[in-house]
Amino acid sequence: STSGSYPLVCIVGGGPAGFYTAQHLLKSHPDIHVDIYERLPIPFGLVRFGVAPDHPEVKNVINTFTQTAQHKHCCFFGNVNIGRDVSVKELQEAYHAVVLSYGAEANRRLGIPGEDLLGVYSAKDFVGWYNGVPCNKDLQPDLSSDTAVILGQGNVALDVARMLLSPLDILKKTDVTQPSLEALAASHVHKVLIVGRRGPLQMACTIKELREMVNLPGTKPDMVTAEFEGIAEALKELPRPRKRLTELLLKAAQGSAGSAQATRQWGFRFLRSPVEIRPSSDVTRTAGIRLAVNRLEGSGENAQAVPTGEVEDLQCGLVINSIGYRSLPIDATVPFDPHKAVIPNTVGRVEQVAGLYCSGWVKRGPTGVIATTMNDSFDTARALLQDIEAGLLKLSTKKLGSKAIVTLLEKRGVNSVSFLEWEKINAEEVKRGGRAGKPREKLLDVEEMIKIAKT
Ligand code: FAD
Repeated sequence: STSGSYPLVCIVGGGPAGFYTAQHLLKSHPDIHVDIYERLPIPFGLVRFGVAPDHPEVKNVINTFTQTAQHKHCCFFGNVNIGRDVSVKELQEAYHAVVLSYGAEANRRLGIPGEDLLGVYSAKDFVGWYNGVPCNKDLQPDLSSDTAVILGQGNVALDVARMLLSPLDILKKTDVTQPSLEALAASHVHKVLIVGRRGPLQMACTIKELREMVNLPGTKPDMVTAEFEGIAEALKELPRPRKRLTELLLKAAQGSAGSAQATRQWGFRFLRSPVEIRPSSDVTRTAGIRLAVNRLEGSGENAQAVPTGEVEDLQCGLVINSIGYRSLPIDATVPFDPHKAVIPNTVGRVEQVAGLYCSGWVKRGPTGVIATTMNDSFDTARALLQDIEAGLLKLSTKKLGSKAIVTLLEKRGVNSVSFLEWEKINAEEVKRGGRAGKPREKLLDVEEMIKIAKT
């Protein structure tokens, strides 16, 4: 629709940040129109492509996002890549305000020798592979070795560890993709070591994910007792969430957890930083990893890891780098802080560009659960609404909104996918999954998605 007085807003990215920003705008302003542009033909971002297949309850937020997409003043345009198909400047010309909510599409690099050897994967690609991200479908991770090392100890690292070690009976009832289910069925990985540069008191995962590891059928913890010296004594000083997490960790470390018939093992390795991924003798693939041994300087959450000069080698054929996701700049016209890898902003207002906003991981960095992303998206929406109220968005200027953008897309041969069309893809996935007793069988090919959307 076009506008001469009511606000026309567009959002770049159809993940939680995009949908929660849209939800708050639509709820708070009776006349506002919100269009969401999403690169993939499929909405929901990391709720579909990040959240682990065995966490179906987390994906219930999709119901709320669907209600938002079906709001009479909201329109979804999938398969539109902003920065490539349409520029941010073109969006700014067509809308009173543009909100950038495009997440963090890259993985942080380790920056060590051997990082590109066969057998080394980023968590982002590995997660994308088992969750059906179209560009990761041919990853074919090598699962032929006994031991996997995961670098990083956050929730994503624990998701990956669980996927590597979960009994197939659990996985085959989830929406994990069929090719990855088959690869995991043939996997030789029996031991997963989860490596962090700091100590047990600084571990970054949450208690739910740790409990899932501790209770994972058919597995038992394998820890190094010496790494827990002094931890039991430190317990009483800890704030409550950290205390409960550490108590559970100690229980796992003391060997009182795990199943008696365990055939698979997992464990944390603390105070270690990767310095080199070691190649096999024919230098084609990963054979192990060299870790620097650290000590802590300071204490508590702010303790720093400092190398002692000692190193340690671990043998492994699979290394997964889970040290964090990273946002990328979208367009030369949008400010970007290359060090923090975020769009510089004040409460979601992009610095020095009126009418441009941001929310979610691209606004505050790639940390935090969906609830954190919800709160910061609501903050951004509130800032935008205040700016409307204060007359800063020049609503008297006539804007063409999606009319202008659809014309550009047609001219450029871009086939956008509406929310109704996504629902056809959804129905097909649910149908295919039903035959195998799964909630859905995800389509992996963008061309096929579009074919189904357009029939
Ligand atoms: P995203 O979810 O990444 O959404 C960004 C969207 O923008 C994507 O759909 C992307 O395709 C689109 N986009 C990117 N570039 C463009 C472009 N150029 N043009 C148009 N669109 C574009 N949180 C929980 O609460 N529970 C969990 O169990 C949980 N598990 C997680 C597991 C993993 C592996 C990861 C990585 C995260 C997990 N999270 C979990 C965190 C949660 O996913 C994030 O907080 C949330 O998804 C961030 O939302 P976002 O919208 O900023 O980014």
